[in-house]
Amino acid sequence: MTHAGDMPGGRPDEAAPAAIELRGISKAFGPVQANKDISLRVPKGTIHGIIGENGAGKSTLMSILYGFYKPDAGEILVNGTSLTVTDSQTAIRAGIGMVFQHFKLVQNFTVLENVILGAEDGPLLRPSLARARGVLKQLAAEYELNVDPDEVIEELSVGHQQRVEILKALYRQADILILDEPTGVLTPAEADHLFRILRGLKDEGKTIILITHKLREIMAITDNVSVMRRGEMVGSVQTAQTSPEELAELMVGRKVLLNVGKTPARPGAPVLEIRDLTLVDEDGVERLRGIDLDIRAGEILGIAGVSGNGQTQLLEILGGYPEKGSTVSGRLSLNGRELPLGGRGCDGAERRRQGIGHIPEDRQSEGLIMDFTAWENTAFGYHHAPECNRGPLMDNAAILADAEAKMERFDIRPRNAHLAARNFSGGNQQKIVVAREIERNPDLLLIGQPTRGVDIGAIEFIHRRIVELRDAGKAVLLVSVELDEILSLSDRIAVMFDGRIMGERLPGQTTTGELGLLMAGISDTENTPDSAGIPPETKHVEDLSPQGPA
Ligand code: ADP
Ligand code: MG
Repeated sequence: MTHAGDMPGGRPDEAAPAAIELRGISKAFGPVQANKDISLRVPKGTIHGIIGENGAGKSTLMSILYGFYKPDAGEILVNGTSLTVTDSQTAIRAGIGMVFQHFKLVQNFTVLENVILGAEDGPLLRPSLARARGVLKQLAAEYELNVDPDEVIEELSVGHQQRVEILKALYRQADILILDEPTGVLTPAEADHLFRILRGLKDEGKTIILITHKLREIMAITDNVSVMRRGEMVGSVQTAQTSPEELAELMVGRKVLLNVGKTPARPGAPVLEIRDLTLVDEDGVERLRGIDLDIRAGEILGIAGVSGNGQTQLLEILGGYPEKGSTVSGRLSLNGRELPLGGRGCDGAERRRQGIGHIPEDRQSEGLIMDFTAWENTAFGYHHAPECNRGPLMDNAAILADAEAKMERFDIRPRNAHLAARNFSGGNQQKIVVAREIERNPDLLLIGQPTRGVDIGAIEFIHRRIVELRDAGKAVLLVSVELDEILSLSDRIAVMFDGRIMGERLPGQTTTGELGLLMAGISDTENTPDSAGIPPETKHVEDLSPQGPA
């Protein structure tokens, strides 16, 4: 077992008083040891990152601290005093607040009602509403946490809902704030705003624990960072003394290439031409508004954007299954041949026959049949292809042998082709889909969120396969909400907002700030000097991209 302090680089200041100290925390869920003998020390008044891959045990550890789970063993000290956290009320009384990965707000209540909910109740509700209004106003002014107290939650953007969660914790006078993967749902600008808020809270002497799997965020904002791997605490270090590469290696347990080494693209003729593509959905809402794009052979075109701006509809039309009840117009052509936008000949199987591979955004509902085995899933969508058939029958032996070879090549674990898809982890499920689609060697590969919920090690692998396909002269359309992924993979970037292409950029000649503005619907002409400012802490994103800063 490893302990904090085994890591190279400087340790967090051991002399500083600790806001939180965990000693030997263990927790099992049935056979899964989610936390193994975890020790952690969070100095008061610091921002402390906890980083680790999916399933490393981060949320479990924080849920124990917040009284959601009872540990099997171990001790919790808050401000130096041992505390038995039996429920979240105990945690709140000890000054701990938590902002969950999935917000726990009541959707049809107002901001104000949500903030006081659970903090006071009964006949005291009315006077406390008035008081809460005052406190909210003050908190908003102090920390840039502006939200209209009378707005109903469901009317608020995700970023604003998150502010309400933070306000809720501060209203309960939290001194220690835990945020579990807070930026997964935010635009870059919202994430920057959140970081400003967190710095403000730190300046006030509060202690922040930030859980994330994003190395960039850890480097940008934390004072110290602790790394978890497979339920264990691998170590803790001062952020200034470490690097993204070192942290990635600690998370995964081996060296990881954070960026695919790739040579400049040598684009050829357009493979897919999209002209004036428009989609009006069932409710009469225009989801795509006149999309014009070319994707060339030997090129990865990345589509950046906050999710929900039409990317899903675009992928669905290209994949041959436009949303039910929608009306599509415009023109698509693949290698100079017109593709139908609806009716006969517009379906997924036909598109695959034409040479369009598709790794869908939602692998569980569209990419895989979860109850079918891995080997069956490796042929899913291609079961009419000649190599999957012998005479009128499917050649199961051939498909199985091919599946096993794919599992070997893509290092899909466990290496059992007879296991149902649902029994693989998210990363391995994704590898099954990627293996199936890439190895068909399509002329055009459509990819939606290829690494969502996928571990760093598998991300590296998937990215390498995508670049290899490009280098083989194929066209790739990559849709991702992860700007880092777009920047490191794309040869050209188009930004989508509200069903439109807001602009195109070359990765080496743009910044996350500029892309972020386009993602928020602010085009070059409306660009104000104020909104263009990117805090220097987020700048090194560009350092992580292969082309480096512009
Ligand atoms: P992280 O937040 O680092 O992604 P989690 O703490 O959510 O990881 O999960 C750690 C491990 O514990 C995973 O294998 C997960 O499947 C398992 N786990 C988490 N919560 C539960 C639960 N309530 N019941 C059973 N298993 C769980
Ligand atoms: Mg988690």
